[in-house]
Amino acid sequence: MRRTNTFRLFPSKEQKQRLLNLADNCSRMYNEINHKRRQSLFSGGFDWNTDEQYHKYKKLVGSATAQQIIIKNNEAWKSYWAILKKWKKGKLEKKPKPPGYWKDRETGKRPLKILVRCDNYKLEDRVLKLPSKLKIRWKGKNRWNRGSSSKQGRLEITYDELSEKWYAHMPVEVEYPLHQPKGEEEKKEAYVDLGVKVPIMASIDGEVFGYRANSMLSDWWYWTHKIAEHQSVLKGVNNRSTSKLLKSYYRKRRRRFRNNVNVMVRDFVERCWNRGVSKIVCGDLRNIRSSANFSRKSNSMIHNFWSVGYMARRIEEVAEEYGIRVTRVDERGTSSECPRCGSRRVIRTKRMFRCRDCGLEAHRDAVGCINIGLAHQREKGKEGAEAVNRAMARPTLLNIEV
Ligand SMILES: [Zn+2]
Repeated sequence: MRRTNTFRLFPSKEQKQRLLNLADNCSRMYNEINHKRRQSLFSGGFDWNTDEQYHKYKKLVGSATAQQIIIKNNEAWKSYWAILKKWKKGKLEKKPKPPGYWKDRETGKRPLKILVRCDNYKLEDRVLKLPSKLKIRWKGKNRWNRGSSSKQGRLEITYDELSEKWYAHMPVEVEYPLHQPKGEEEKKEAYVDLGVKVPIMASIDGEVFGYRANSMLSDWWYWTHKIAEHQSVLKGVNNRSTSKLLKSYYRKRRRRFRNNVNVMVRDFVERCWNRGVSKIVCGDLRNIRSSANFSRKSNSMIHNFWSVGYMARRIEEVAEEYGIRVTRVDERGTSSECPRCGSRRVIRTKRMFRCRDCGLEAHRDAVGCINIGLAHQREKGKEGAEAVNRAMARPTLLNIEV
């Protein structure tokens, strides 16, 4: 599996200048290649040839890096063709756009980025060794360094205009699982319903538990409030709509959210692992926006910010570390059917679920994850045997410390 280490770089004044020049040339080269390819596409053909740009830039950025930039642009185009093919087959709604330039959407400026081939750099204890005898001090955690079993990929060095800092992103191929799976013999499954108020609700062997989002949500609202406040100041004082501070608030909000999600996801996957789970079954989230009746407040959150997709992706990645498989199941109908008698005559309030036919009363999200389990068993051709018990009415809700 692939993981990325991110380090902060501390170039000296002279090194900074060299990095700036190098990065500017890298971005320029990328954009020139992309421009040529876009032009050739719009005139009805497609030309992969990049000899001209290669010869022009190899002296400025080094031939290995020039190669990497061509490869990077090739990758962008290849994935564009692949998505286009899917679209032509009617598998996608939106027609994909050809690859864009390296350009900041707001400022229009080129982002500063340097690519270094995997065998062209070395991360030592304190310095990052780059071509042309560039040795830059770095700080951070080399989290995914697992000795000889990990293989380093193409390094990307970026300059962040907002914080005025340099970073290096080093992809590493890590052998997995990092933890020996406990669930090999037991083949236990965890059924998971993802949401907003209760981000994760799961059932394992009839035991239902979930996580409270209260502290995460209040943290998010705190930063949202700060953003709104600052926006109105900007508008009132000098009629502007953006500022560096504003951007840093947005970023802070997102980072804190992601951080909290990560704490929760890791806790959840560890619990699964400790209970001998070998497979996590998640509701497929493609319908979450349209199917759920959220309040206005959480609705705006789902659209603007709450990335359930991010949560699902993190569950997959962390589960992989523990040797646990993750599969998806179509979750349509999983919240509107009684798991005990199958009736659709149900009443759902904010948190509660009640069946008019058999009288089952349960926590709404608990019904969701139990039904995901049933849907999964039906997909496998088995009649559902998920226990419907008291845990559904009062699932354990855990807090995440923010
Ligand atoms: Zn019922």
